[in-house]
Amino acid sequence: MANTKTALVKESSSKTDKSRLLIVSNRLPFTIEEREGEPSLQPSAGGLVSGLGAYLEGIKDPNLREITPESVPYVWIGWPGATVPEASQSMLKEDALTNFNAWPVFVDEEAMDTFYHGFCNKTIWPLFHYLPSFAVYNDEYWQQYKDVNRIFAEAVLEVIRPGDTVWVHDYQLMMLPKMIREKMPQANIGFFLHIPFPGYEIYRLLPRKWGAEILEGLLGADLVGFHTHEYTQYFQRTVLRELGYEHNLGEMLVEDRLVRAETFPMGIDYPRYHEAINRPEVEREKRALHRSIGDTKLVLSVDRLDYTKGIINRLEGFERFLDENPEWHNKVTLALITVPSRVGVERYQETKQQIEEMVGRINGRFGSIGWTPITYQFRSLSFNTLVALYNVSDVALVTPLRDGMNLIAKEYVAARSNGAGGVLILSEFAGAAKELGEAITINPNGREEIAEAIKEALEMPEEEQQQRIALMQERMSRYDVVSWAEDFIEQLHATKEEQTKFGAKLLGAEVREQLLGDYRKAGRRLVMLDYDGTLVPFQKDPQLASPSAQVLSIVNQLASEPRNEVVLISGRDKDTLQNWFGDLPVGMVAEHGVWTRKPQAGESWEMIQPMTSEWKQSIRPILEMYANRLPGSFLEEKSFSIAWHYRAADPDLGPVRAKELLDHLVNYTANINIQVLQGNKVIEVKTAGVSKGTTGLRWLNDSHADFVLALGDDWTDEHLFMVLPDTAYSIRVGLVQSYARFNLRSYKDVLGLLEQMAENDEADEAEAQEHDYRLEGRPVGAA
Ligand code: UDP
Repeated sequence: MANTKTALVKESSSKTDKSRLLIVSNRLPFTIEEREGEPSLQPSAGGLVSGLGAYLEGIKDPNLREITPESVPYVWIGWPGATVPEASQSMLKEDALTNFNAWPVFVDEEAMDTFYHGFCNKTIWPLFHYLPSFAVYNDEYWQQYKDVNRIFAEAVLEVIRPGDTVWVHDYQLMMLPKMIREKMPQANIGFFLHIPFPGYEIYRLLPRKWGAEILEGLLGADLVGFHTHEYTQYFQRTVLRELGYEHNLGEMLVEDRLVRAETFPMGIDYPRYHEAINRPEVEREKRALHRSIGDTKLVLSVDRLDYTKGIINRLEGFERFLDENPEWHNKVTLALITVPSRVGVERYQETKQQIEEMVGRINGRFGSIGWTPITYQFRSLSFNTLVALYNVSDVALVTPLRDGMNLIAKEYVAARSNGAGGVLILSEFAGAAKELGEAITINPNGREEIAEAIKEALEMPEEEQQQRIALMQERMSRYDVVSWAEDFIEQLHATKEEQTKFGAKLLGAEVREQLLGDYRKAGRRLVMLDYDGTLVPFQKDPQLASPSAQVLSIVNQLASEPRNEVVLISGRDKDTLQNWFGDLPVGMVAEHGVWTRKPQAGESWEMIQPMTSEWKQSIRPILEMYANRLPGSFLEEKSFSIAWHYRAADPDLGPVRAKELLDHLVNYTANINIQVLQGNKVIEVKTAGVSKGTTGLRWLNDSHADFVLALGDDWTDEHLFMVLPDTAYSIRVGLVQSYARFNLRSYKDVLGLLEQMAENDEADEAEAQEHDYRLEGRPVGAA
């Protein structure tokens, strides 16, 4: 049996090379039930499941998405909801795969309990919903979280094959993208967070190591999706603060991989709700409801029982409304339904108790024989009952303190009959509020606001209600759950394409061979090397970025080869370069082209052309002001330039001040002969007229080289790349757009390439020596 199920997955991989979608979520869309002594699977509904169902149905349909019926278009990977004895596991896997396109992850209930009721719901859930005082920081929970994520990663790795797309869902599995990427570096991985991503000040409450590991886990994905623009921004800012990765229009370079963070507000399966309202079963439920409520207006409140849903605030708001509006007594009922959830977490028990006490108190205070102000139910509803309730309720009262999206609000709108009214009161702290602008929005902490909103809703003219509902319905039917999922997957693939575009310019094996071949053949070679970021990594203090023994040895080796001319073309001052490389037979260019030194050790420095630095008097005070204003930033003065470094400054504030400074300096560039260079965490003001390009070109013309290689990592190196002939090998370090012909990922790759060139020289040398020896040892007169 065990072999059959494995075969099903592996076999399909050999039969077809169609890529599949692997959905990974904490729970599978079915639960395990005991039938005749054997565990068996039953479909289960839930937010994500019912949502994604419509999309998955779509990709199953060969006509709709051009997917051949033989191939399995998707596999859902997740926990099946119970411990499965080892003996039954293989059978269950087979059943899951054939009947549910699913792959169960086997974790025993106890471990899952610590995982789900521990780190997931006692740490992440309260913290990400802005209730830090409820968050528990427990090392065991954290360990368990990582362990269970690891088990999920192993399950994914069992199923995945090249070309598949993995879509990981939600806060339970934030470590997963990185864990998969470590084993499959090329995998297509998307991650979607269904809950809010908090502001940095909240996120940083997590112990630093945990916080950083979670972010790194998420950044293992190619695309990270959130419900609202705010969550996306908070994520980007947190990544910058915690890990130092900047973003440009949502794109981040994580080590050498492009990662995107984007907003995708999740829609609902709109037709499923809208079309259900006229089904006979729903009609029956509606009639029953109408009979029991009579003429009273119905205000609906449905949620999972959760302290984030603001149910207490809602009840207090309703109480205030009854207090202030006696004319509405006997005419309105609040139908309060709470769906059992996370019963294992104490906070949930407490919330339940609080709600029940409050309902009792309010009913006792205002109720009469013929009128119960609040009808309370603690149970889950069938789909038909829920739709009927949505359809007959005059008002939906949705007041979460925080909510990633809130689907109840959207479902209520979808389940209104065509042309009918209905009013949605919605907390501004629900992600859905960003899209449902026609709702009455409230701050759930303001009881008065809730009370006023209830009154406004009950008294809103029918025509206005209809207009508002119709506008929201129109918007929601356009961006429904299928569009949402399609959009996400499309963007994931687009990100992958962009990575490939960058990858195409990467110096691959073939070009590398060609480069080394040309190098070997050439009689005169010119090698131009930038220093910082190209030969060594950046340091907070530039003086700490001295050359390693490896760098000195490679540069020396290459520069000592008689056919080579090696030139360091740097923005550094000449004294620093002299100090580090003065004893090597290497050419040097300092201050972005101002000073040059011939390749022989002991040569003196010369200025490329007469220059002045009188401008310094007027510019220095401005730069000093910025250095004083931004802690961690400082000035570096060279003969003909002043640089303002801000690498060690606050990562948020640094770029802001840098923009201000640039703006400030623009006024001076018009009437003083200066140039402003924007480098990597540095702004440098220098005398105009000389650049790495002008000096580099002069060096090139004097060299008569038949092999030219230029390497640089910075904007200032582009000046050089621009002026080089097409035959030159120009390489930009880092995956960014460039005039250079090729890219290399990092300084490590640069050293690797230079080392290979030096080895080639050594091999040539050894060969030449052997040749000479043979010639010398040859008997006179021999052929
Ligand atoms: N729901 C349910 N059973 C019920 C009542 C509601 O499955 O008895 C569904 C409801 O249709 C909605 C989801 O639960 O799709 C609740 O989603 P929401 O985003 O509002 O809150 P969450 O529970 O995800 O925090």
